[in-house]
Amino acid sequence: MNRPVRVRFAPSPTGPLHIGGVRTALYNYIFARQHNGTMILRIEDTDSQRFVPGAEDYINEALAWLGIGIDEGVREGGKYGPYKQSERRDIYREHVKQLLDAGKAYIAFDTPAELEAARNSSPNFQYDASTRMSMRNSLTMPADEVKRLIDEGTPYVVRFLIEPGRDVEVNDLIRGKVVINSSILDDKVLYKSADDLPTYHLANIVDDHLMEVTHVIRGEEWLPSAPLHVLLYEAFGWRDTMPDFVHLPLLLKPDGKGKLSKRDGDRLGFPVFPLEWHDPKSGDISSGYRESGYLPEAVVNFLALLGWNPGDDTEIMSMDELISKFSLEHCSRAGAKFAFEKGKWFNHTYLQNMDDATLAEKFKPVLREHGVDPDKYSDEFLTKIVSLVKGRINFVNDLWDQTSYFFVEPEEYEAKSVKKRWTPDMPGHMEDLIKVLESIDDFSSAAAEPVVIGWIEKNNLHMGNVMNAFRLTVVGKCVGPHMFDITELLGKEETIRRIRKGIENIVPVE
Ligand code: GLU
Repeated sequence: MNRPVRVRFAPSPTGPLHIGGVRTALYNYIFARQHNGTMILRIEDTDSQRFVPGAEDYINEALAWLGIGIDEGVREGGKYGPYKQSERRDIYREHVKQLLDAGKAYIAFDTPAELEAARNSSPNFQYDASTRMSMRNSLTMPADEVKRLIDEGTPYVVRFLIEPGRDVEVNDLIRGKVVINSSILDDKVLYKSADDLPTYHLANIVDDHLMEVTHVIRGEEWLPSAPLHVLLYEAFGWRDTMPDFVHLPLLLKPDGKGKLSKRDGDRLGFPVFPLEWHDPKSGDISSGYRESGYLPEAVVNFLALLGWNPGDDTEIMSMDELISKFSLEHCSRAGAKFAFEKGKWFNHTYLQNMDDATLAEKFKPVLREHGVDPDKYSDEFLTKIVSLVKGRINFVNDLWDQTSYFFVEPEEYEAKSVKKRWTPDMPGHMEDLIKVLESIDDFSSAAAEPVVIGWIEKNNLHMGNVMNAFRLTVVGKCVGPHMFDITELLGKEETIRRIRKGIENIVPVE
């Protein structure tokens, strides 16, 4: 059957969207675009206990930052709405009733204490065909008592009646056919009267059906729920329009040992959230890719390759390229190691491919943060500076460390270089260097360099010591791009001023 492709990203607003959730959203988006389909954002807020204020806005902001576009959703609207589950209570109630009327679900009154006692008396307790007839539910209690309890407002749940001994087939487009026996499933709770809300399982199936979802693309952690979902589609009589399942491989810790967790990020120093998150309860701040200086294109590219490959060794791909190349056949079943160093490499590479003027524009806010007014400098000057050092940076923020001496003259001089290069004869050589520089009219790198080098050679001076001492006075330390590229940008006057200051202020180390 060929239905138009409709996929959904269905996060629960229980906190900041984890990077694994972002990968799920991205794969849904890529798949939708590739098939000219529709991408739905559905907010699954049926767990009122775990609701976190701000989480929904966070999800929207993160997806927008990454360029993951939504066609139908709470903000976008659409004809299958509402797209927030807490606003769909009537729909769920009606569907629960449908299952109850058909004898495919039943009402249970067991209190938490009673369930606890049952678990204590038999360690493998599971609410299923083997135990349900000894529990307090509408299968074991007289109908009038059930009615009376409901009328009195006694809290109850609705459970799905699972027939044991049946092989349930889940067809996963990455994993192939997965068969499990229904006997291992329990009679899952579908609805709770206490908050008049369905559980994830019911809401998810009903909505996927009503929203005409064709492919359920989600994390591997949901694979164990899939057989139950198949049985639910069946119970509703929706087998023919059941979506295809796609369970994406787990994201693993960088060393491959176990599932990636928030703590790994803290431990190893990389963000596990797309945007910085300020926890409204604890006040804790978790770092985000955006605030850490990642480009959204680099994050998208990095995440796309965690669980999929293009079939060759192409690594750098734009969103459009990902959309044209993506295929489920090249998705892996095995977990994908979260190689965050590779994430840095992607960012580095995207920065190298960015044109210098654009990068200079992105550098301006960083300069402001450091108290430098970028408007005092020409775009040409900033662009040149950026071009000199960009090979050394992974993040836009790194530009400051690499170039701060262009904006702020050195006040201190790196001790180890002073010790090594500032020999007693050096102030004298620097005085001579000033004279040489004063004589140069064309201060460009290409013109000034041979004059200075010629002077060093003619006087038999030590090339390394003199050049490094020169650099020490101008930069404050002995690293950075080609010396004469630096002096060209600083200009003759400023260069000479800094050498003078160095002669006055550098104290030789014994
Ligand atoms: N609300 C679930 C989640 O938070 C959705 C799982 C699914 O896609 O079925 O991941």
